[in-house]
Amino acid sequence: MYQFNYKKVETIEEAVNELSANPESKILAGGMTLIPTMKQRLASPEQLIDIRNIKELNFIKEESNNIVIGSTTNHYTVASSDLIKNKLSSLSRLAEGIGDPHVRNMGTIGGAISNNDPTADYPAACLGLGATIKTNKREISADDFFVSLFETALEEDEIVVSISFPIISDSIYMKFPNPASRYAMAGVFMSKNTSEVRVAVTGASENGVFRWTEMESSLLNDWSKSSLEEVKLSPEGIMSDIHGNSEYRANLVNIMAIRAFEGINE
Ligand SMILES: Cc1cc2nc3c(=O)[nH]c(=O)nc-3n(C[C@H](O)[C@H](O)[C@H](O)COP(=O)(O)OP(=O)(O)OC[C@H]3O[C@@H](n4cnc5c(N)ncnc54)[C@H](O)[C@@H]3O)c2cc1C
Repeated sequence: MYQFNYKKVETIEEAVNELSANPESKILAGGMTLIPTMKQRLASPEQLIDIRNIKELNFIKEESNNIVIGSTTNHYTVASSDLIKNKLSSLSRLAEGIGDPHVRNMGTIGGAISNNDPTADYPAACLGLGATIKTNKREISADDFFVSLFETALEEDEIVVSISFPIISDSIYMKFPNPASRYAMAGVFMSKNTSEVRVAVTGASENGVFRWTEMESSLLNDWSKSSLEEVKLSPEGIMSDIHGNSEYRANLVNIMAIRAFEGINE
């Protein structure tokens, strides 16, 4: 590890001021990704701005048929929230399946989406439910937030404040976890309401999370198993690594989609 400044802040304003004053700063939330990245020297910020003491970032509430979650809320709190279990169980089950107990107690929802790891779970829920991400500056729809691998629409001095998920009871997340890390080898978040079907895929694409629009159209046109099975994900542009090649991963996505469809219809 190398030397850096550490600053604990109490308000969003203080955090934004620190970020603006020093562009080489980085927000520290759960530290589950940032600290290992620094240890490996893949990032070397001059200053860490610890936002975990900002009380207004740590909450879960229901508002106008949405579940709104503050950015520093950890995965364990999301998984164990009775409100989320009752209203949006797809999201609590997703949180329950992240990493291990240590990661769930430290890792935060804001850190997870800001990091936009191509194999992370929450980005799929954001796209699959059509979430809105609120920052200190604006509101960004999930469709515009996730740009590419480890890249989001966030600007240098922008902090995720909360994420608002529409309550869609016909929604489910199915993932095939990497047995070691529990990150998704393939994860499909599917939701259905009267006017829209959303199918978001994580763990597969070389460009990170994406909406599988071909599958969405097919299911919107005809919500049936045969309609689902007509569409197959092409291995082109799908990740290939030591854990599985692109054909294997594309097939896993197809299987997760079938499981998601069956889960919603149960
Ligand atoms: C062993 C292990 C297993 C894991 N398994 C899974 C898994 O199965 N599924 C999964 O989805 N994830 C998994 N994770 C990731 C983990 O769940 C965290 O969500 C992730 O590491 C980032 O969250 P964090 O709060 O720790 O963020 P940090 O590491 O503190 O920050 C990550 C990045 O986001 C930025 N950031 C943080 N908060 C904000 C904010 N509010 N606004 C703007 N920028 C911000 C930081 O500056 C940094 O660049 C795993 C991690 C580990 C170490």
